[in-house]
Amino acid sequence: MLKSYGYAAYNPQTPLRSFHFERRQPGPTDVLIQILYCGVCHSDLHQARNEWKASTFPIVPGHEIVGKVIEVGSAVSSFKLGDLAGVGCMVDSCGVCPDCQDHQEQFCEQTVFTYNSPDKHSGKVTYGGYSNQIVVDQNFVLHVSAKLDPAAVAPLLCAGITTYSPLRHWKVGKGQKVGIVGLGGLGHMGVKFAHAFGAEVVLFTTSPDKEADARRLGADEVVISKDPEQMAQHLRSFDFILNTVAAPHDLDQYLSLLKRDGTMCLVGMPDQPHPSPNVGNLIAQRRALAGSLIGGIKETQEMLDFCAEHNIVSDIELIAMPAINDAFQRMLKSDVKYRFVIDMATLQG
Ligand code: NAP
Ligand code: ZN
Repeated sequence: MLKSYGYAAYNPQTPLRSFHFERRQPGPTDVLIQILYCGVCHSDLHQARNEWKASTFPIVPGHEIVGKVIEVGSAVSSFKLGDLAGVGCMVDSCGVCPDCQDHQEQFCEQTVFTYNSPDKHSGKVTYGGYSNQIVVDQNFVLHVSAKLDPAAVAPLLCAGITTYSPLRHWKVGKGQKVGIVGLGGLGHMGVKFAHAFGAEVVLFTTSPDKEADARRLGADEVVISKDPEQMAQHLRSFDFILNTVAAPHDLDQYLSLLKRDGTMCLVGMPDQPHPSPNVGNLIAQRRALAGSLIGGIKETQEMLDFCAEHNIVSDIELIAMPAINDAFQRMLKSDVKYRFVIDMATLQG
């Protein structure tokens, strides 16, 4: 076994702190990655605090991983020592079900998530990227271009693909008016991608001080969602809205902004249900309310390649490992510009 270390939440109440554990020795198809950077997703906070009521403690969060390949198994063909590599939210799936065959592994019933998921190798749970190293099957490791800042690439592995995938699925592009709700980790990537795909982009925010940043990131217009007059100016005008908010809120105020046949896709996963939307708001204009979960491995690589080609990365604030508890506090106050990334060189063994 490989002696490994990282930061874990030991229970939902106390701050994250040092944790020592073991990872498997790399098998023939495995890649061993020295973790250089790991992004901090709001899902890490939800799960460290057991807000989704499914956490096994100690829990080592982290699913926005960029690192360097330091060992490859004998059957590994697509990675070599020294390569930059990425790992996102998944590390395994069944490989044979219709979802896996369709490159939609995130929907496979046997998906193994990067942390807090039953680990068939150890019989325990998987441990994530707030750690020094990780062992992952080559099919779930992504190639990362050396052209981009690796620290700023890390959030693409979750925030990037979670916004890229629905924007592609609903064919967002030129001639369309698209709303992004919430300017956090996911939202700021949604603004960048929707802009890059050629759409007219409107950012909805509860934080008026984020307006200038939103425009710099690619928004054509910024709407303060608490201002009914501003909201009313956009009634029945959107083709698509991507909602990234991590807290329960009134969905009707956004549904009524969709035009006929428009869709609002939810990617935020609050710990409590949203107030149920008014069905009349869906029926009246044949509107749709949908959801989306990260994206498949093939599409994640496509997204990373798109980012390398178009020079797209996340806007990040690099932090030391012990600062993770402050980062969680700031995330709760929507005070993130726009993704915390942990510099793993600061992790003490
Ligand atoms: P984040 O960085 O904390 O951003 C969330 C943003 O939502 C905030 O910055 C804020 O933006 C807005 N917001 C927060 N509270 C709000 C409220 N009460 N009312 C309205 N707006 C509010 O979080 P994130 O990492 O982007 O994650 C967002 C959500 O997506 C989380 O629930 C996370 O678990 C989920 N997630 C889902 C997937 C998936 O596959 N579906 C993948 C990753 C994450 P403003 O200041 O602009 O209002
Ligand atoms: Zn995430």
